[in-house]
Amino acid sequence: MRPFWLEQALQGDASPTCEPLQGDTRCDVCIVGGGYTGLWTAIMLKEQNPELDVLLIEADICGAGASGRNGGCALSWSAKYFTLERLFGVQEAVRLVKASEQSIHAIGAFCQRYGVEADYRLDGTLYTSTNLAQCGSTDSVIAALERHGINSFDKLPVAEVQRLAGSSKHLEGWFSPAAASVQPGKLVRGLRRVALQLGVRIHEKTAMSGLGEGSPAVVETAGGKVRADRVVLAMNAWMARAFPQFERSVAIVSSDMIITEPRPDLLKKIGLTTGVTVLDSRIFVHYYHNTPDGRLMLGKGGNTFAYGGKMLPVFDQPSPYAPLLRSSLNEFFPDFAEAGIAATWNGPSDRSVTGLPFFGRLGEGSNVFYGFGYSGSGVGPCHMGGQILASLVQGLDNEWTRSPLVNGPLGYFPPEPIRYLGSLMVRNAIRRKEHAEDRGHRPRRLDVRLAKFAAAAGKADKG
Ligand SMILES: Cc1cc2nc3c(=O)[nH]c(=O)nc-3n(C[C@H](O)[C@H](O)[C@H](O)COP(=O)(O)OP(=O)(O)OC[C@H]3O[C@@H](n4cnc5c(N)ncnc54)[C@H](O)[C@@H]3O)c2cc1C
Repeated sequence: MRPFWLEQALQGDASPTCEPLQGDTRCDVCIVGGGYTGLWTAIMLKEQNPELDVLLIEADICGAGASGRNGGCALSWSAKYFTLERLFGVQEAVRLVKASEQSIHAIGAFCQRYGVEADYRLDGTLYTSTNLAQCGSTDSVIAALERHGINSFDKLPVAEVQRLAGSSKHLEGWFSPAAASVQPGKLVRGLRRVALQLGVRIHEKTAMSGLGEGSPAVVETAGGKVRADRVVLAMNAWMARAFPQFERSVAIVSSDMIITEPRPDLLKKIGLTTGVTVLDSRIFVHYYHNTPDGRLMLGKGGNTFAYGGKMLPVFDQPSPYAPLLRSSLNEFFPDFAEAGIAATWNGPSDRSVTGLPFFGRLGEGSNVFYGFGYSGSGVGPCHMGGQILASLVQGLDNEWTRSPLVNGPLGYFPPEPIRYLGSLMVRNAIRRKEHAEDRGHRPRRLDVRLAKFAAAAGKADKG
């Protein structure tokens, strides 16, 4: 089953098919993985250096991973400010928050420049509270952003929050204009189209089955070998299984999504008429936005955990959490109680210990680079990932190659079975805590303490 967004994008995608690799070939740069990270890297390399021969291989079709199925909320790293400051210091944290906002705008400019119709709407985001326990939880990070002159958020009166968000479930809200919503499948397929236009050679249905390090590096596939001066691994959640050294650097966890049939009449009735993205302040956040064709999409993170980082068949099936999503939808939007559901789906997110992606090379002096660990927040940040990887590949000396983001994983989860059992314990504690808070009850102290393990990574992650 293809997730809803990708299916919709494929219907309007007239760009040529990219045949599987047959036979051996040579290139300057081989990119493995056709999601946002791989495609942004390919495009930036060609824009900066049109002479480079760039070849991209994708195991399925471009957009089959998280990039073709996510929530389409393009957000900055403002909400991660404390994590950034703790890990990298004030100066780099400030730079990264600004760069993450620039990426939101750059995605819009890219779509305009190349005529990519990805339903990009720069209509901002609302970070809200949907129960009393959440109220005030955003204040400290906004105060820190303000102190450093990088705050784009304004607290809105409750009535205005409820009007903008189309739901009376919100008790407070901060609005930032520096955020966009997109149709993620159309964005990734648009990136593919532009990459082809710029001369990137793409082979779909071509999985890397082995990697021989050396100069050149040799990427093995069923149909032939690719010899490449440099290799970029942009495989996201698949990295954990493919390279044992990364197994404990991420936990693979689903985010689950539901989308209604078009009901522009109901959207108009509730007042949700812009492309604003709305996120509450749970650890496993609720996030939603409308679509230009009158649908309402709602997602929720932190559901299915994969033992040992395995890709589970359930990630390519309708969401097992469909009833929960439906009831959340009804709670936020009682007017949609009778609205038809067009689809539910889910997909794997690569949650790192810090909630931030990490980049690097496979070993000292290696010509194989990688980047992943976006932790359910990659629509905007993958554009930064493209800048980082394109800079690393070209051996540039700039703010990206000097950034501590290129120092590899910044933490490891415990080995299995502890990671899996621990994840479930924390997830269930969060569920109990948030359930109690929704009912105005005080959560158990142990649940609060366990929940802190997940909260440490920062707000607004959708994995
Ligand atoms: C359900 C869901 C909802 C999300 N919602 C949001 C959101 O609203 N906002 C937000 O900012 N982020 C969100 N995210 C996160 C975001 O989608 C990701 O961070 C981002 O798409 C990662 O892009 P990527 O290119 O690194 O990985 P992917 O898009 O996953 O691409 C990796 C690609 O590598 C390919 N591959 C794997 N192994 C091989 C191999 N051996 N050979 C060749 N190719 C291979 C895969 O087929 C895949 O296409 C969400 C994620 C999920 C799963």
